[in-house]
Amino acid sequence: MPEQRRILATAIPGPLSLERQVQRKAELANGLGTTMPVFIERAGGGILVDVDGNHIIDLASGIAVTSVGASHPAVTQRIAEQAARFTHTCFLVTEYDGFVDVAAALNRLTPGEHAKKTALFSTGAEAVENAIKIARTATGRTAVVVLGHAYHGRTSLTMAMTSKNAPYKQGFGPFAPDVHRVPSPYPYRWPSGPEKAAEEAFAALEEIVTTQLGATNVAAIVVEPIQGEGGFIVPPPGYLAKVQQFAHEHGIVFVADEIQTGLARTGAMFACDHEGVVPDLITTAKALAGGMPLAAVTGRAEIMDAVAAGGLGGTYAGNPVACAAALGALEVIESEDLVGRAREIEARVRPRLEAACGPDSVVGEVRGRGAMLALEFVRPGTTEPAPEVAKAVVERCHQEGVLTLQCGTYGNVIRLLPPLVIGFDLLDEAVDVLLDAIAAVGALETQA
Ligand SMILES: *Cc1c(COP(=O)(O)O)cnc(C)c1O
Repeated sequence: MPEQRRILATAIPGPLSLERQVQRKAELANGLGTTMPVFIERAGGGILVDVDGNHIIDLASGIAVTSVGASHPAVTQRIAEQAARFTHTCFLVTEYDGFVDVAAALNRLTPGEHAKKTALFSTGAEAVENAIKIARTATGRTAVVVLGHAYHGRTSLTMAMTSKNAPYKQGFGPFAPDVHRVPSPYPYRWPSGPEKAAEEAFAALEEIVTTQLGATNVAAIVVEPIQGEGGFIVPPPGYLAKVQQFAHEHGIVFVADEIQTGLARTGAMFACDHEGVVPDLITTAKALAGGMPLAAVTGRAEIMDAVAAGGLGGTYAGNPVACAAALGALEVIESEDLVGRAREIEARVRPRLEAACGPDSVVGEVRGRGAMLALEFVRPGTTEPAPEVAKAVVERCHQEGVLTLQCGTYGNVIRLLPPLVIGFDLLDEAVDVLLDAIAAVGALETQA
């Protein structure tokens, strides 16, 4: 593991990263964006080391993936051991233990005591697509209901399910049919106020499903229990339970997309657990395999079994090296109590962020759960989004060796997704840097 200390060896990006950018630009398609233009040489714990020797504090975890760090020995040793035995057979061709062991772990860890089954895939979008395939087969219906501000991926179907146009959808249509959007209960931006959001958003869903679509045509309602790319939007208490109850009454499959929120990130094993909500199907990916590509759909056995043999799968789905990594990552999540760790991170960071929020501040709201926290930037005294303020803060953090990410439909949210194993000294230092950046950029804003 690299030395767990922030080190600014050069300007960021440094000369060796800048040199590589030239070749990157020449060789790579422009459509591949990069948040922080540095090439990484080593990473682990809460630190990324770039080719110039800068030690950068990681508040991104490769977008909520490396919750156990990017080189935890429990993961890397299992990868090495599995890779030496065999790298691939294709589970559709011949079987191996890792696939079954990961499925058993997910059946055990996901919410609910009912009989569950799991299918493994490679990417999050693939898991969401397969959840829809399963729900459609199980119900004999086709319509899919999703929320405003949703993010479910970049493949054809999941792009249709994703809400934000640029950059995810612009120019990529036509989109998959029979995907329908209902309002997201976004408390901070709900027109009649946050206390009305749950009830009114649910009423809108009910109205659209029953009068426009017909409940008997709806296969699935898919929600992120905390919306990720859309801006770390925490639904108001009770909303998810209402939707679940409604789905249940109408024979609709209730799918929780926990690809970003799942596996300890929010201070519970799953974000649904905070509200006691038990989804019919749950999708996981990001943190599942400690950085290796692996995704899953887990859910009620009778729904999961609806698709006939051969209907689910993929060449690489549940790759044995990725499964070995997942068994290591899941072991660390449980044995190092990363659920508790995520809560400690929230307890440590959230009050400091909240202190930066207020009527005269560029920070309009602090929200999230566990180690999934965000700041929404606005023009002081209004709720008008201020994406350029968020961007300026992020850039200052990057220059100071702290990796932060932007998100949100309006691009005005900074999200914090530290590895759950990050040292508290590093975490505190990263928050110092972030708060200094907010103060500096905020001061410029108020002058302007
Ligand atoms: C990241 C994400 C996806 C897509 O996962 P990929 O592995 O990038 O395909 C889907 N849903 C949610 C909630 C996500 O955060």
